[in-house]
Amino acid sequence: MKTYDWIVVGAGITGAALAYELAKQGLHVLLLEKEKNPHSATYYSYGGVAYWSGSTPLTRQLCQESKHILGNLSQELDGETEYRELNLVLTIPQDRDPETIRQNYANCLNPPDYLTVEKAIELEPLLNCNEIAGVLTVAHGHIHAQKTTRAYLQAFLRLGGTIAIEPVLNLLRQNERIIGVITAKNTYQSENTVICAGAFSRSFLETNNISIPLYFSHAQVIKTPPLNIRLRSLVMPAVLQRLEIEAQARQPEKESDGTLPNSNVMAAITEPGAIQFLDGNFYLGQVSQIITDASMIPDLTQSETEIRSQIAKILPQLANVPGTCHHCLVAFSDPSRPLVGKIENLGGIHLFSGFTSPLAYAPPLARHFATWATQGNDQVIDQFSAIG
Ligand SMILES: Cc1cc2nc3c(=O)[nH]c(=O)nc-3n(C[C@H](O)[C@H](O)[C@H](O)COP(=O)(O)OP(=O)(O)OC[C@H]3O[C@@H](n4cnc5c(N)ncnc54)[C@H](O)[C@@H]3O)c2cc1C
Repeated sequence: MKTYDWIVVGAGITGAALAYELAKQGLHVLLLEKEKNPHSATYYSYGGVAYWSGSTPLTRQLCQESKHILGNLSQELDGETEYRELNLVLTIPQDRDPETIRQNYANCLNPPDYLTVEKAIELEPLLNCNEIAGVLTVAHGHIHAQKTTRAYLQAFLRLGGTIAIEPVLNLLRQNERIIGVITAKNTYQSENTVICAGAFSRSFLETNNISIPLYFSHAQVIKTPPLNIRLRSLVMPAVLQRLEIEAQARQPEKESDGTLPNSNVMAAITEPGAIQFLDGNFYLGQVSQIITDASMIPDLTQSETEIRSQIAKILPQLANVPGTCHHCLVAFSDPSRPLVGKIENLGGIHLFSGFTSPLAYAPPLARHFATWATQGNDQVIDQFSAIG
């Protein structure tokens, strides 16, 4: 039986980027994905690349690398990424003090600037001037996450990589080492395995008695057909409640809820956000809810109503456009600690998941990971301790 150098589990943007970078180093790589056309977090991503946001020496370095990598990626992969730069517009609620909110971003590599309501409307005419106390704005990268993933996968295949559409059911274990994976059809052997299964990574590893500090939320978003309305920027709230509920879900008392089968860890929140892609279609969002049952299907009619009522306040012309509501799972972990590297006390098994701003951090981290995989060390990956 063939033994691969690496098996990568999951072909969202993290798995696709990592499989490509490993293959680029000359390694024999098998990428296993459970669905032919996954409607995953990558599929529903707004595509924003927050390469202005790094606030530590490490994240600032990665942001700078990300800007460089994504700027050249379409050419490198010989595929479409739709990379561009646009304005990120962070809306400030009327009852909040803009200066206090601006201070929350003060440590960023490029802190956003405050614009008055009048200037904000000049920048983004679809905004409702009656609902905001101004905006923060900064130059933001933008890609089409699904097309970028596809470009990574096609380049991976051209490098001799192998893709199989087979759900990975289990890990193949020999004493204290993982030596491959088991699918419904096959057993595959490898020197190393890396889990890039997004929100499914935690439950997958739990079935193998490996517990990791990874969590997930249920996200709901409206996808529209191409529309004649033009949104110039990526619009999001300046204060993201989503980050607050994620932080609460990671608290020790909530962490125990996280292991219960159908625990409603945090109630649903709705935050008005919008992006228009180059082909004219929009994603309007988003409802976020932390429920531990990954198979739970939310009430999409109710979610759609909530999203439209929030959008009506901030971007009224988009409130009643045609579109349908969809659902996916989004992984998250402690923002200061993406889950990158070896899993503690077990050989041959690694994790690459749980990033905040994954579209900014996954491409450079995948490159560092591949250097680390071939050379045994890397100045970025060496800064992360084993996961456990
Ligand atoms: C509405 C929305 C907007 C967003 N906007 C942004 C943004 O602007 N900027 C940003 O940086 N991030 C954004 N995100 C988050 C970001 O898109 C995701 O976190 C990221 O795409 C996740 O990528 P992933 O590869 O880790 O996981 P996923 O995209 O979830 O991919 C995981 C893959 O693993 C596969 N898989 C799972 N289990 C198995 C198994 N057992 N065997 C084989 N395959 C398996 C799944 O089918 C899936 O294809 C957004 C997310 C949403 C939902």
